[in-house]
Amino acid sequence: MTNGSSPHLVAIIGGATAGAEVAHRLADRGALVFVFEQNARPYGKIEDGLPRWHEALRKKEYETIKEKLSHPGVTFVPDTAIGPDVGFKELVNDWGFSAVVLANGAWRDRPLPIEGADRFIDKGLVYQNPFVIAFNHAERGDRPEASYTVHPGAVIVGGGLASIDVAKIHTLDLTIRTLVERGITTDIHELEVKGIPKVLAKHDLEWADLGIEGPTIYYRRRIEDMPVMSAPEGADEARLKKVEAGRRRMLEKAMDKYRFKVEPLSAPDGLLVEDDRLVGLRFRRTRIENGRVLMQDETFDVKAPVVISSIGSIPEPIEGIDMRGELFDFKDWDLGRLEGYPTVFSVGNVVTGKGNIVASRKHATHVSEVAIEAYLGLSDGDRSAAAEVAGSPALDAAAETADHVTAHLGAATPPAPERARQLLERIAARHEAIGFEDFETWLEKAGPPC
Ligand SMILES: Cc1cc2nc3c(=O)[nH]c(=O)nc-3n(C[C@H](O)[C@H](O)[C@H](O)COP(=O)(O)OP(=O)(O)OC[C@H]3O[C@@H](n4cnc5c(N)ncnc54)[C@H](O)[C@@H]3O)c2cc1C
Repeated sequence: MTNGSSPHLVAIIGGATAGAEVAHRLADRGALVFVFEQNARPYGKIEDGLPRWHEALRKKEYETIKEKLSHPGVTFVPDTAIGPDVGFKELVNDWGFSAVVLANGAWRDRPLPIEGADRFIDKGLVYQNPFVIAFNHAERGDRPEASYTVHPGAVIVGGGLASIDVAKIHTLDLTIRTLVERGITTDIHELEVKGIPKVLAKHDLEWADLGIEGPTIYYRRRIEDMPVMSAPEGADEARLKKVEAGRRRMLEKAMDKYRFKVEPLSAPDGLLVEDDRLVGLRFRRTRIENGRVLMQDETFDVKAPVVISSIGSIPEPIEGIDMRGELFDFKDWDLGRLEGYPTVFSVGNVVTGKGNIVASRKHATHVSEVAIEAYLGLSDGDRSAAAEVAGSPALDAAAETADHVTAHLGAATPPAPERARQLLERIAARHEAIGFEDFETWLEKAGPPC
């Protein structure tokens, strides 16, 4: 199903959850899709973000991504970072693609908001993304450049789910090490599933017996504000109170099960430095008024062997894409459209920033069906994501968006055969340069994900 006799050629940047979803949808509707992935394996945050104890979820997602990228209409182009290896402008303007889809996620840590903090990276300051990547690959040792050290009494700046994972990595790791010293063997999966107190009880031990100083998460809002549970849109006050109580309950359960602490109403305010090393942070007390964080006069210092900043991930800048602050300067935040690049759309974490696997996949499906497929003339009227989200009003809205996209962009014309041939030659040259034969053989060579 194409406009004319030759197929549309589409580039996707990033081959993980969101990228694989769009690739499969478009290929299923007759496009030839080329997925550019900076890594050898296409699993993105599933392999490198989700802590490795999520064994079943990771396995399921690996299979889903692999299956979607195995579609005969999808060509994988691994070890190819758009930006450093192939320029973004060049890819969009010169290669001859009908559309380009950004599905490159959010891989840069939001900087710790204290002037000069980044001078202490690896000298007392560690960011969440490299920390979790190193933790996930530690057993395999296949990322020698990524090392992680867990220290007792770490300070974690954060408040979201990822910062809780960082805290859990600390207490689970410290518990395993301390039990080994006592001749007791356990593993991270057992500890994570049963919780630390239950595993210790099996050996007639309590947390206090281990003498471990656990980490503390410093959060600038209240415990009731922690985004561990989201409030439904338009929730009234009574519903909001219930969600807040639920958040507190969830957090108390997690603190009990994994033995970390949370210090709410504390915002990072200054660096404690000794001998050119970060040895802790100064925090400022906050107050929450009408949902806003208000800084107070009181400050307090916390010394720690390491400070881990886990305050959110943002997209890595790509040359040729304007930034607005820390984010890509989208002119349309629903469809991830960029000024000056009418054929570019964006899906998943790169637009939504925070989020989860389901949110990334849903967003990818939404943008594909209401915008990309409409633009490429590949729509089959199956607006399933919109229907699933909210019933017929969503379907109407999806149809309206699709009409809007085609009215503004017109319908894309597939590249002329000569241009398509040149594009395929460029892909073949890249494949040759990296030693790629076919998806299956490549994945085998790349080895299983961690
Ligand atoms: C610590 C942590 C714990 C989490 N826990 C959960 C959980 O329990 N449940 C849950 O549902 N979600 C969880 N998430 C969130 C979830 O993993 C992500 O929201 C989701 O996987 C994002 O999918 P994505 O496809 O949008 O982005 P990504 O998975 O980030 O995919 C982007 C892809 O683009 C590639 N790429 C980036 N830049 C380029 C470039 N320039 N050129 C080519 N390729 C590029 C990357 O290598 C990557 O493969 C967690 C995240 C973290 C960090």
